[in-house]
Amino acid sequence: MSPVDSVELAGTTAPMHATAAVTGLQCRGCGHEQPATATHLCELCFGPLEVTYDYDAIAGRVSRRRIEAGPPSLWRYADLLPVDGGDVVTLGEGFTPLVHARTLGAELGLRHLHLKNDTQNPTNSFKDRVVAMALNWALQNGFRTVACASTGNLANSLAAYAARAGLRAVIFIPANLEAPKVAATAVFGATIVPIAGSYDDVNRLCAELADDLDWGFCNINLRPYYSEGSKTLTFETAEQLGWRLPDEIVIPVASGCQFVKHRKAAAELINLGLVDARQLPRFTGAQALGCSPVASAFERGSEVVQPVRPDTIARSIAIGNPSDGADVLRIAWRTGGVVASVTEEEIVEGIELLATTEGIFTETAGGVTVAVLRKLARAGRWSGDETVAAYITGHGLKTLDAVAGRRTLGDPVQPARRDVRERLSELGLT
Ligand SMILES: *Cc1c(COP(=O)(O)O)cnc(C)c1O
Ligand SMILES: [Zn+2]
Repeated sequence: MSPVDSVELAGTTAPMHATAAVTGLQCRGCGHEQPATATHLCELCFGPLEVTYDYDAIAGRVSRRRIEAGPPSLWRYADLLPVDGGDVVTLGEGFTPLVHARTLGAELGLRHLHLKNDTQNPTNSFKDRVVAMALNWALQNGFRTVACASTGNLANSLAAYAARAGLRAVIFIPANLEAPKVAATAVFGATIVPIAGSYDDVNRLCAELADDLDWGFCNINLRPYYSEGSKTLTFETAEQLGWRLPDEIVIPVASGCQFVKHRKAAAELINLGLVDARQLPRFTGAQALGCSPVASAFERGSEVVQPVRPDTIARSIAIGNPSDGADVLRIAWRTGGVVASVTEEEIVEGIELLATTEGIFTETAGGVTVAVLRKLARAGRWSGDETVAAYITGHGLKTLDAVAGRRTLGDPVQPARRDVRERLSELGLT
């Protein structure tokens, strides 16, 4: 774990934004500061941009009591977000259950294992947190059309929030996206444009389109605001643990965007005195072996993330060229975390293990997280008394195919008591 004085937080003191305590955008690469407009690239070096806040102003306002008196949604943390929480379009996102996983924990030798159940968001994935931020920022800044490149969860979420807000949504997807994901997006009336290419192709195309069109693209020109929504997952975890940070957090990694934001969230809680901790948690990443550019760089001890061509059932986290991969590596190293990967079979076992021990049905990304937890537990990573939190980011109904057909039911039984008794006896139940 790293000491707090190594927690760098950008902050300036001259608010130039009417809403929230946002002071501008700062480049993660060169530190250059620029106004909070719809852009995601540094005007000097094209590095990624972070929202900066007037932390002195926030410190004078925010408190545990004020947060606890807020709405039962992520908007209770509006003081630490780039959107003014006063009048927002919401579907009730965030403030999802934190479950003390006693049975799974016993299986893994962890007495204090907690699962953040983000399957309970309005469109059943973590993406509602980031979309709520992007959508409301776009609305408050005069955009009429919102757009995104997506492998499914972001498409579902943006389509729903745009419908709720009365904005037009245009969603770009790889043409081979699974039919249920297309249907769950189309139902909200969004325009869907299938592209003959991979997700990485679609994303690159959207970056070009964002230059020509005055639309708000979630993961492009709205990205600095969009990604800030991720922080609420860690804010909530700390609050639900009684204003404590876990010793370690296990997070699925696609672009690495949310991983980076969880570190920022933990640092904000520490620096604002909202938690008693003096140290950051260990941040541990989880990837599918079939798309594990960050985990393999970690294993090599390299700082360079080499792009890969994804081939995994964990499609919602299958990004071959992760934009924040290098930052994920740096954060994992510095906090004492690891980045690990698991096989396709282990992913399905992870889904089943979570379902059978805790009654929570997660999609393949959650299977990756649970399987990495199990792998690390078996390797003796924990003594048993650590508080470990794992983020379960999407619902199992989104990837039903992953577990369909894992059990055979046998031939139908005649609707007669004798026949049924016979089957129950064959099953060893009577
Ligand atoms: C988008 C997503 C993630 C995280 O992705 P990052 O790009 O790393 O922020 C994790 N799980 C699910 C289910 C997702 O949809
Ligand atoms: Zn820069």
